[in-house]
Amino acid sequence: MATVELKQVSKIYPGGVRAVNSINLTIKDREFVVLVGPSGCGKTTTLRMVAGLEEISEGTLSIDGRVVNNVAPKDRDIAMVFQNYALYPHMSVYKNMAFSLQLRRRELGLTKQLIDQRVREAAAILGLTDYLQRKPKALSGGQRQRVAVGRAIVRDPKAFLFDEPLSNLDAKLRVETRSEIKKLHLRLQTTTIYVTHDQEEAMTLGDRIVVMKDGLIQQCAPPLEVYEHPVNRFVASFVGTPPMNFLSGTLQSGREFVFGDQRLTLPEKLTANLGQSAAGPLILGVRPESMSLCNEGRFAGENNCIRGTVSVIEPLGDKVDVYFTMANQPQMVCRTDAHHLAGIRPQSPGSFFVAMDKCHLFEADAIGRNVSLAGR
Ligand code: ATP
Repeated sequence: MATVELKQVSKIYPGGVRAVNSINLTIKDREFVVLVGPSGCGKTTTLRMVAGLEEISEGTLSIDGRVVNNVAPKDRDIAMVFQNYALYPHMSVYKNMAFSLQLRRRELGLTKQLIDQRVREAAAILGLTDYLQRKPKALSGGQRQRVAVGRAIVRDPKAFLFDEPLSNLDAKLRVETRSEIKKLHLRLQTTTIYVTHDQEEAMTLGDRIVVMKDGLIQQCAPPLEVYEHPVNRFVASFVGTPPMNFLSGTLQSGREFVFGDQRLTLPEKLTANLGQSAAGPLILGVRPESMSLCNEGRFAGENNCIRGTVSVIEPLGDKVDVYFTMANQPQMVCRTDAHHLAGIRPQSPGSFFVAMDKCHLFEADAIGRNVSLAGR
């Protein structure tokens, strides 16, 4: 068990590429933290610096209070699980799991019996007991990934590092293995840092998620906090599927958000602390699930409906995504109950009720700070 602390850590590759830019992050003992962000945001580089596979250009990395910048990977007492499993093809599952312990048996003070016990325990936890004599090529992708996890478990490390471990699995297996990893963490309580580009994986696994972009941490908080209170437009659009909708407009008479010939009345909590931002262009953020169809007259004509033209309807089973367009705005999407769809079809006019208390207001500049957070 361990606390992992990154202080002002940067990675500058030859040629001056700042892949990670002065990040501060403390992963508490027993915590499961997920680094998530689009390709190239620096999450793998961060993980590899923690593992010791990548040199740290600036800043300090501590494990349990001890600075380990110059400590070799094998002496950091952390175990990494990779996307491509990296199993030895000529060794059995048993041997793959036991190998690193056997290599360092004397150094670690382990007996053969103890290694055997650890391998069998890990195999039991991971449902691999019946496969111990097989070679990796005779296993499914999910089983191979479990062997890779098993190899990490037997080392009883201070921390687990996972680098996109589920990317090679098909969708169903990904969800199953995801929940196995979660159960494993509940059981072992080992400090874990997990890298993924998949926001859903991040949301379901992490005690906290760290959203990264361009080598910088954008937000670090529990998943629901990030979903409900994104600090900027990037985080708002990255977390949640379909992503949050954005409407460009201005604020008039204090609480009226005006866009084209339409307006929505904002609740006071959104506008309470806007300060200077109130005068400039603003962007209203609305999640697809915070809208519903109001064509059936239920809300039609009332305040807080957006009118548009339906472009595409995507049934999902119990829910349906209704895409619609308006002049001079990006396409919007409303996720609503499938049985509310009556009468709606592509090219028909649509009216969409907006749950205004679930909306966000962002500045219209490149950073797009969430200016409605100050009011909560
Ligand atoms: P992905 O999900 O695609 O792996 P990532 O968020 O993990 O992306 P990194 O692999 O950490 O991103 O890369 C961060 C940045 O550093 C990228 O712009 C990448 O091109 C750059 N980079 C990575 N490795 C090197 C290297 N060896 N030399 C130069 N630049 C590098």
